[in-house]
Amino acid sequence: MRKELKEIYRVQKELALLDGTNSLLNWDLKTLMPPKGFLDRAEQISVISRMAHNKFIAPAFQKLVNETIQTRLRKKDRAVLERLKKDLDKAKKLPASFVEEESKITALAYATWQDAKADNNFRLFKPHLEAIVALKRKECRLKDLPGHPYNSLLDSFEEGMTTGRLKETFAYLKVELIKLLNEIKASPKYKRKPVLSECSLEGKEQLCQFIRKRMGVNDGRSRLDNTEHPFTTTIDADDVRITTNYNKSIKKCFFSTVHEAGHALYNLNLPKNYQHTALWGGTSLGMHESQSRFWENVIARSPAFWKYMFPVFQKNCDTGISEDDWVFEINKVKPSLIRTAADEITYNLHIILRFELELELIEGNLKVRQVPKAWKQKMKEYLGVVPRTNRDGCLQDVHWSMGIFGYFPTYTLGNIYAAQLYYAMLKDKPDIMSDLRRGKYDRVLKWLRKHVHKYGRSLSAEEIVEKTTGEGLNPSVLIKYLREKYSKIYDL
Ligand SMILES: [Zn+2]
Repeated sequence: MRKELKEIYRVQKELALLDGTNSLLNWDLKTLMPPKGFLDRAEQISVISRMAHNKFIAPAFQKLVNETIQTRLRKKDRAVLERLKKDLDKAKKLPASFVEEESKITALAYATWQDAKADNNFRLFKPHLEAIVALKRKECRLKDLPGHPYNSLLDSFEEGMTTGRLKETFAYLKVELIKLLNEIKASPKYKRKPVLSECSLEGKEQLCQFIRKRMGVNDGRSRLDNTEHPFTTTIDADDVRITTNYNKSIKKCFFSTVHEAGHALYNLNLPKNYQHTALWGGTSLGMHESQSRFWENVIARSPAFWKYMFPVFQKNCDTGISEDDWVFEINKVKPSLIRTAADEITYNLHIILRFELELELIEGNLKVRQVPKAWKQKMKEYLGVVPRTNRDGCLQDVHWSMGIFGYFPTYTLGNIYAAQLYYAMLKDKPDIMSDLRRGKYDRVLKWLRKHVHKYGRSLSAEEIVEKTTGEGLNPSVLIKYLREKYSKIYDL
């Protein structure tokens, strides 16, 4: 290999190693670290981030990449360099002063948001959210992507997605989801009583450890630990860790385990020869969510899945409920105030609400002080329920306090991609869902590896879906999936 290329690969590897080190510090922070270590840990993480950023945007490295990309290259090297150049061009648009300003504003905002949420005090959080909106508007100007300013924010999470396409997609979904929700509400089964399903701490642990191993998230390359808000961390190609919250109900901690295991399987099955290069990783947040939601909703909430799993569930959680009651319970539709507790249908309405408010804030058509009222109005209109407090309303999510705008839409994009992949998988392997009755998931995993994981970041989310299904993002497939599923459950 030429010495220029060797140097580029060496720097990429160092960047990946720094990134992995930070991930480990973050994982520890959220699982095992004594709470008083927080301030020092924040400094450790920030010093490594700064080192990595400076190494990445160093003029000599930029020059090397820009010059080498002009020369004759092998196919894989070209793909790596093109991806790297795109990442570099994005990173250098934000000057160090902006990155520093952002980390200061959001550190303070996050701490204040925690207090504001606990005290149900929006006024406390208001000036911080105002600063963040101003900062995000500045980010739009700095990045300056064509079209709507919000495109620049979306691009950080879902490259190539535009505000116009999202508006169209969400307008369609909103109408169809509300229609389906109303049909469900009119069904006699809508009033079916909830069943209690408690479980000992030990039972929860056994069941969660069992399912993640069964899915293929093994001890050799992963582990499952306890945390407050479940997440997945990638330290490197052979160390991808997941978490759940055993203090929550069995329903919650089981499905977060499956969700996070879905994220982990994506990263654990990326091509080994992409490791420590720009091509390694999930291609977008939407595609990552499609994987976690595929496992969580399409697989683990299906009746076939519980044919095998219900006896295992009963062995660990002796709750006395029937399989039929349990399968209904985990798929029950009911509009509620909290996004993270929402069912598969209303979840998307929570996302659409947040997208619409973010857009108006960025456009300047909505002032921060008007957010609580606008939130309640939209909740009433889309879901028919209104939060009495801001704690259960606009203060519920952490994202805005961390300066994360343009992220929420990727959850619904993930649901759409998951439905599209599901039908493509069925077309390819019509009997595959019957594997679940025997607790066999390897054919499903193999299919996802072949059609999603193996591309790493070499293709965009939409290119992957197009290759597999023959078409790009198509929200009507999500509606088809939801209608098919819920018509059976609610006898529509
Ligand atoms: Zn997720």
